Amino acid sequence: MPPITKHYNYLVIGGGSGGLASARRAAGRYGVSAAIIEGSGRLGGTCVNVGCVPKKVMWAAADTAKRLEDASNYGFNIGDKPKFDWTPFVEKRNAYITRLNGIYERNLIKDKVDYISGWARFAGDKGEKIVEVSLLSGGTEYYTADHILLSVGGYASIPTEIPGAHYGTTSDGFFKLEKQPKRVALVGAGYIGVELAGVFNALGTETHFFIRGETVLRHFDPMIQEYLTQIYIKHGVHLHKKSKSFEKVVKLPSGALQITYEDENGKSEIEVDTLIWAVGRGPNTAGLKLDIPGIKTDSKDYVVVDEFQNTSIPGIYSVGDDIGWLELTPVAIAAGRRLSDRLFGGPQFKDRKLDYSNVPTAVFSHPEVGTVGLTEPEAREKFGTENVKIYLSKFIGMYYAVFDKQEDKESTVYKLIVAGPEEKVVGLHIVGDASAEILQGFGVAIKMGATKDDFDSCVAIHPTSAEELVTLV
Ligand SMILES: Cc1cc2nc3c(=O)[nH]c(=O)nc-3n(C[C@H](O)[C@H](O)[C@H](O)COP(=O)(O)OP(=O)(O)OC[C@H]3O[C@@H](n4cnc5c(N)ncnc54)[C@H](O)[C@@H]3O)c2cc1C
Repeated sequence: MPPITKHYNYLVIGGGSGGLASARRAAGRYGVSAAIIEGSGRLGGTCVNVGCVPKKVMWAAADTAKRLEDASNYGFNIGDKPKFDWTPFVEKRNAYITRLNGIYERNLIKDKVDYISGWARFAGDKGEKIVEVSLLSGGTEYYTADHILLSVGGYASIPTEIPGAHYGTTSDGFFKLEKQPKRVALVGAGYIGVELAGVFNALGTETHFFIRGETVLRHFDPMIQEYLTQIYIKHGVHLHKKSKSFEKVVKLPSGALQITYEDENGKSEIEVDTLIWAVGRGPNTAGLKLDIPGIKTDSKDYVVVDEFQNTSIPGIYSVGDDIGWLELTPVAIAAGRRLSDRLFGGPQFKDRKLDYSNVPTAVFSHPEVGTVGLTEPEAREKFGTENVKIYLSKFIGMYYAVFDKQEDKESTVYKLIVAGPEEKVVGLHIVGDASAEILQGFGVAIKMGATKDDFDSCVAIHPTSAEELVTLV
């Protein structure tokens, strides 16, 4: 084994959400010697480069398209339908991401975290904790550390069993599209499929959305599933329900993709310009040689950790998407920071860990979805159906009051789930404009253990949609 380049107190593999947050907390707040190894050449990970951030920019473009459609109801005469120009917009979006990459790099310098640009894996004899890095600039270096964090994130899967499936791409490829496809097929009813379908549809792409069941977002509360499914159909998404695995995908001489599929209406064919698989993600653990130190993984290759983010090997930890718990940026960040507090923050933080319950989350669909806590079936299962009470509200927000056509008015739907005689709030599910923003504050209340009475004791802000949540009967 060649000589060790450097020994650190804290060595972080993966410069994404969790890794950056943890390394910066360790070095910036507690002054430990720390380094981040990042292989892609860009800091920020999935969220910044091919996830939340560019997605939200695209969502905002799609939202603008909707507002432009609505504008005549507010007395604006905007003439012909405004044209969306994908290519220059995407260049602007990419420039923003590049600026963010630079900010992340400067933040590492500010916090005195070394940035090692290369791909990492374990090396040496069984039981050793040596990290080998293939530098992007060429050459190989070896590092050791008192504490090692794995925060290598995940990858989007493409089915292997469907002939021609590889002609399709994933959400990563969505962010590389330089031109707007005229026709797109998306596969997968999870939040990524829903979000990308919403963007394409609002921006004028003919959007075919293939889902296995009857509804989108099948792990969400049934109210969300049913309502969003209806709205997507109303908005013109071609929803292919009960879709079976595609028979084949063929690339035509024109470059278009011909998909042979079967859905609730039987077998058929369709031609699209772009096919996007949103059928699930797996952890980036395959090349890490985790067997050298002996880190346990589960049947899907996720790193096995305990509630303190400890892996099966002392001194090696993991946070974020590669553990497969809650695959969200703020979760990776929060777990990474708490881990650094515990490891380096002194005795007052010896039990510090992330509580993974009641994590609020949003889906940037059109309209937005917000959800926290248990779904109605989960609550009934956990507390017994007789101990659960549901408060529902369905209404037309004031934004639509001046709309000319009844069918253009969109309902907002809210569901509050309470349990026990004290009516503790155990779930909140909302669909409607600004749901993501609304839910953040209510998330605090629910995390604090709010009851229905606590909600009611808060005086409403009028006129808003959110006021419905403190006046539910
Ligand atoms: C399309 C899409 C939209 C999303 N939208 C949202 C959203 O709106 N809100 C939200 O909260 N979450 C969203 N997410 C999820 C979010 O992006 C992830 O949960 C988050 O990025 C996980 O952070 P992480 O630190 O675990 O991993 P990542 O951020 O993925 O970082 C892992 C890093 O490790 C690097 N790496 C991997 N292997 C090695 C190696 N061997 N050596 C060196 N470096 C390595 C990778 O290059 C990467 O930079 C979205 C994800 C996708 C795909």
